[in-house]
Amino acid sequence: MTDHNAIAGVIGLGNMGLGMASVLVAAGYTVFGFDSSTETRARAAKAGVTVLSNAGEIFAKAPIVVLSLPTAAIVEKVITGPDGVAARATGRCVIVDTSTSEPQASRRFAAELGETGHGFLDAPVSGGPAGAASGKLAMMIGGSEGDLAYARPIIDKLAAKVIHVGASGAGNVAKLVNNLLVAAHMLTTSEALKLAEAAGVSADAALGVINAATGRSAISEIHIPTWVTSGRFDSGFSAGLMRKDVRLAMALAQEVGMDVPIGSLVSKLWEDSRDIVPDGEDFTRLASLSGTAAKKETGHG
Ligand code: NAD
Repeated sequence: MTDHNAIAGVIGLGNMGLGMASVLVAAGYTVFGFDSSTETRARAAKAGVTVLSNAGEIFAKAPIVVLSLPTAAIVEKVITGPDGVAARATGRCVIVDTSTSEPQASRRFAAELGETGHGFLDAPVSGGPAGAASGKLAMMIGGSEGDLAYARPIIDKLAAKVIHVGASGAGNVAKLVNNLLVAAHMLTTSEALKLAEAAGVSADAALGVINAATGRSAISEIHIPTWVTSGRFDSGFSAGLMRKDVRLAMALAQEVGMDVPIGSLVSKLWEDSRDIVPDGEDFTRLASLSGTAAKKETGHG
C-alpha cells in the first residue's frame, strides 16, 4: 500500500456514503468525512470516521476523495469554490464520484479538474446500502486510465465488480440506462404479479416461477422478496432518487435526440405516483401488491 492509499476522504455520509466510509475504516484507512447534516456527521463519527467541518478540509488532507451526493448540482457546489478541490495546497487529488449524476456535468468536472492537475472519475454504483456497507458494490467508471489507476486501491475496497466503461461520462450513461431498467422492472414486475393474482395464482407462486424462468430480474429475485412481500420497505433507496434517475435518463435521451416511448411511459408512471409514494418513501413501496404486506401497510393495491 502506498502512502496515499492509507488516507481517504468521503463527502456525503448518507445511506451509501457511510457504508463506503465504514468499509474503508475497517480496511485500516484514516477516513476524513464530511456531510452537511449534523445528525449524519454524528453517526459517522461513531463509525470511526474522522469528521471534519467542511469539504475543503477533506480535499486538503485526502489524495482520493469519494463523493456520495444527491445531484450533479451539489457535486459542483462541493468541488468548486474555495472550499472545493482548490483547498488542496499541494499534491494531486482524484475524486471518485459515486453519485448517480449527469454525464455532461461529469465531463465538465473532469476537464476543469484536469487543468489544475487533479482528476475526476464518474463512478456510480449499484448494490444499495447493503453493497456499500460490505464493499460489494458494482462500480461503473468513466474517466482516464491514469485517474483510475491512482484511485484503484480504494475503488477495489468498495466494489466487488469494477467496470471501466470508457471516457468521462460513460459511467453515468451506463448507470442511467441501468436504473431506467430498474424503474421499469419495478413497474412491470408488480403489474405482472397483480395480473397473476387476479387470475387466481398467488403473487408468491408466480414469483417462484418467474425467478426460475426467463422473466426474472434483480427486482423479482431480490427487491420484491426482501422488501415488498416481507412488508419491510427499507431497501434504503428513496422514491425521490429513483425519480431523479428516470428524469436524468429522459434528459439523456433528449440530449442524443432519441425517442424512448417505453422510457417516457415509465417516467410518467413514476411521476404520477408521487401522491401515493412520496419522494421520501422507500422506492420499493411502488410495488404494492394486492394480498401482500404492501397492501396492508399502504392501503392501496
Ligand atoms: P442520502 O440522501 O442518504 O445521502 C446523501 C447525503 O449527502 C446526505 O447525508 C446529505 O446530508 C449529504 N449532502 C447533501 N448535500 C451535501 C453537501 N452540500 N455537502 C455535504 N453533504 C451533503 O442518499 P443515498 O441513498 O446515500 O444516495 C447518494 C447517491 O448515491 C445518490 O446520487 C444516489 O442516487 C446514489 N445511489 C443510491 C443508492 C441507494 O440504494 N441508496 C444506490 C446507488 C446509487
